[in-house]
Amino acid sequence: SYPNYGRIDGPVVLIGFGSIGQGTLPLIERHFTYDPHDVHVIEPSDTHRTFLEQRGVHFIHHAVTRENYRALLGQLFKDGKGFCVNLSVDTSSIEIMQFCREIGVLYIDTVVEPWAGHYFDLSMPPAERTNYALREARLAETRANPGGTTAVSCCGANPGMVSWLLKEALLRLAKDTGHDATPPKDREGWAKLMQSLGVKGVHIAERDTQAGRDAKPLHTFVNTWSVEGFVSESFQPAELGWGTHERWFPPNGHRHDEGCRAAIYLDTPGMLTKVHTWTPEGGPQYGFLVTHNEAISIADYFTVGDPAAPEFRPTCHYAYHPCGQAVLSLHEMLGSGVVQETLKILDENEILWGEDCLGVLIYGHERNALWYGSRLSIQEARALAPFQNATGLQVTSAVLAGMAWALRNPNAGIVETEEMDHAFCLDVMRRYLGRIEAHYTDWTPIATRWAQFAEEIDEDDPWQFQNVLAT
Ligand code: NAD
Repeated sequence: SYPNYGRIDGPVVLIGFGSIGQGTLPLIERHFTYDPHDVHVIEPSDTHRTFLEQRGVHFIHHAVTRENYRALLGQLFKDGKGFCVNLSVDTSSIEIMQFCREIGVLYIDTVVEPWAGHYFDLSMPPAERTNYALREARLAETRANPGGTTAVSCCGANPGMVSWLLKEALLRLAKDTGHDATPPKDREGWAKLMQSLGVKGVHIAERDTQAGRDAKPLHTFVNTWSVEGFVSESFQPAELGWGTHERWFPPNGHRHDEGCRAAIYLDTPGMLTKVHTWTPEGGPQYGFLVTHNEAISIADYFTVGDPAAPEFRPTCHYAYHPCGQAVLSLHEMLGSGVVQETLKILDENEILWGEDCLGVLIYGHERNALWYGSRLSIQEARALAPFQNATGLQVTSAVLAGMAWALRNPNAGIVETEEMDHAFCLDVMRRYLGRIEAHYTDWTPIATRWAQFAEEIDEDDPWQFQNVLAT
């Protein structure tokens, strides 16, 4: 009784079979028609070889590298059709998407990932290690090769699903405040809708409370999704879309001279940059301002006027409270000065309780703030789909939605999730998201502070980033 979202002609190739690859494969099996003898996984670890081979999946025990990617993928996609699903770390999204489009193969990924070594390359100045730089390189590829075979960029939970939730949330806010709630037809319309609603900014506000039975072992980094991915992004400079309502500028902040100009970066890594935020699960809470593509793409998409001197642009950033063991793991890693030797992703069998509460907190408007998002418990996730925890299912169902959209729109060129049909994609995802909830809150970043120590607070506008940034 699962809906079928279309036929994939040619091979289905998954690059990487970590937590997200393992959760995505059963959704592909469930929702698409394809030749089951033409499914391939390319993965440098052979932990899941037997599992894959027993399912009839062709397992290719290789790392995809700058040197071999054309040969490896070229052999598999020799007839110039099929779908390449890139769910790995350490492979260049841009180069792989470029090759897939050259040979007419559909492509999707969940992040603009660079080749191995990029995130920790000390010869690169901080500006070059930002997601702004990665996204600008991707935008340059779009400009150089417009149109053509569809490649969906950054289509996971966040980046990804949150941009669709944001549009649905704006329509909800419009309806609840007596504005016209007809979905706008184009980018400019969406940006003007956000502006007309008086929105100042957006937190991607997440609280992950999933926990297992055992305490975190010493010298082990524990998380609910890729440890390598999380550590890499946590070491990048903190970044945020920079809104037009901001009247203070962080002393350690930097603007970019080129490109879309929608974001700034700070001289601190995401894991050392805390912000005040709010989720329905945690209430007022700290989040880590870890850099993410959506902080930039949302700020860029919802800009009104000249990008270099906009009339309106929202502030936008991630405010991530990972699971408790991941917070402890970050603390241990920072203190010790080394990344732990053992990396551990909690799977659905080890997690006893908790949920991933992931949504957008839209703030500054006449109802103060609205959190809109998915609350998915581990029990729900286990019942809905195999081989993944709640965090994983929010990501893999977005990959599913992106693939379904690409099959219906095979010649859309390179797209980000803001440019896709949010209603169609959320409809595909909805069965996997637990409860999609809307919560208005009176909370502001200055509502819950400790009075024992003086802080520089802008009392006139609680939603200034100066107040959001934790000291
Ligand atoms: P993971 O660490 O569990 O798995 C990554 C896999 O990639 C591993 O199995 C690893 O062996 C493999 N790999 C490493 N180098 C490779 C190479 N050169 N070629 C092929 N495979 C290689 O990570 P995950 O949790 O499955 O996440 C996968 C990707 O999805 C990461 O890039 C992560 O940042 C991204 N992600 C995005 C979102 C989102 O919401 N947008 C959420 C979670 C993860």
